[in-house]
Order: sequence, then C-alpha cells, then structure tokens
Amino acid sequence: MQVHRLRALSDNYIFLLHDPEQQQAAVVDPAEATPVRRCLQELGADLVAIFNTHHHSDHVGANHQLLQQFPAVCVYGGADDRGRIPRQQVFLQEGDRVEFAKRTAEVLFVPGHTRAHIAYYFPPTAEAETGELFCGDTLFAGGCGRLFEGTPTQMVASLSKLRDLPDRTRVWCAHEYTLKNLKFALTVDGNNPDILERFAAVKAARQQQQATVPSLLGVEKLTNPFLRWDQPALQAAVKGNSPVQTFGRLRGMKDRF
Ligand code: ZN
Ligand code: FE
Repeated sequence: MQVHRLRALSDNYIFLLHDPEQQQAAVVDPAEATPVRRCLQELGADLVAIFNTHHHSDHVGANHQLLQQFPAVCVYGGADDRGRIPRQQVFLQEGDRVEFAKRTAEVLFVPGHTRAHIAYYFPPTAEAETGELFCGDTLFAGGCGRLFEGTPTQMVASLSKLRDLPDRTRVWCAHEYTLKNLKFALTVDGNNPDILERFAAVKAARQQQQATVPSLLGVEKLTNPFLRWDQPALQAAVKGNSPVQTFGRLRGMKDRF
C-alpha cells in the first residue's frame, strides 16, 4: 500500500492509498474531487473506497462527486456520523476492521473534535514495517483539533489511545498546521530541546513549501504539548493539577493563540 499526499483547499491534505497489484485506490477525507481525479488518472487506478474520519465539509466535500464518477465506491465513516456524512454506507465503531490492499485497518473511536470522529490505524505487517495512522482532525503534527463537540476528558482519552501506538507509526493528519502548532508549543514548553530542534526543521521545510505531514508518533510524543499533559513541566506552565485540567488549559490557550 502506497500513500499519496494530495493538497486540497488552503491547508488540507487528502491521502490516496494505492494498491499497485490490483490498481485500486482509496481516499481518506476527500475535501475536493479534482486532486483525487488527477492522481487516479496518473496512477491508472480505480477508486473503490472513501474512508472518512468525520463529517466536516473539508473532509467529506467530494464524497458526492466521486460517487457520481465511481458508483461502486464504498463510503466508510463513524457510526455516530449517521446522517452527517454524504453517501455513507458503512458505520464503524471502535474495534471494527477495514481491509484495503491486503492491509487491515483498525478503527479507533476518538471523539473530541467532533462527537463521532474515528481514526484508521494500519498496523505494521511482515512486508510493511511502519504503521499508518489516519487521524483526521484529532491529532495534528505538533497540535490537536479544536473541541467542537467534545470535552477535554473525551479528548484526553482519544489522544491517549493514539499515544499508545508504536513510536514509528506515521501520523497522517489532515491539515498543514505544524509550524503554527510548534510556535504555540514553544510558549508553553520552551525549554524542551526536542521542540526547539523540531521547530527549526519545520520552519526550514515550510520556507521551501515542503509538507511536514506525515510525522512520526515518536516525535509527537516528545514535542506535542497535546500528548504531554502528564509532564510536570507542562503542568507547571499552565498550573494544571491533572492531565485533563492541563489539557483543557492548553487547549483554551491555543484557541486564543
Ligand atoms: Zn474537522
Ligand atoms: Fe479539518
């Protein structure tokens, strides 16, 4: 399974999963149809599945158009998004499994950004040594999604679930927000040498218009404040007494940043 990263809208990424053996493709969160069509054409692949993480229009915007062109496409999404994801056919819950290109994704229920948000995790296999995590707007490189329909308690549980995955997991998040996220991270964890190093690398990459997605989960664990609410330095910085309180304060500060 090869992952192609496509730019969409102003700062979204669509991920196109390609199975070269079958010449089949699946897309994660198609915001727009044009970049998907272009990539399918270049590859000569047939679209068979849409994997949606949540119902926001910058993630499901092209569902309808892609179904018009590829009527056999199967649309997957979270069970609690019933009625909110256009043309949804499969209603997934925590622990469900989804097959593509001889890989099996595990469905993780990760509410917080929205109440129905899910993530797709493809664990490593004998042939493919990295795991692939498609986490939508739950975890970002250096940050996390806003709480539109969830509580800090829910989001901490969701992010804990993602944090438990192996360090070498590639994190395919849906937006290029990394530089701004790390600017915020420096304001709350500015003595963290890993953040300083990452910030310099990301700044240089962005100056050359390079993408910073995917990132590695191991790097997120060291540098992303929204996975580090149990670190004493961060708790002290926001005067949080517990992981949930620390997370809640960090999220509130980031909303105003
Ligand atoms: Zn969203
Ligand atoms: Fe989004």
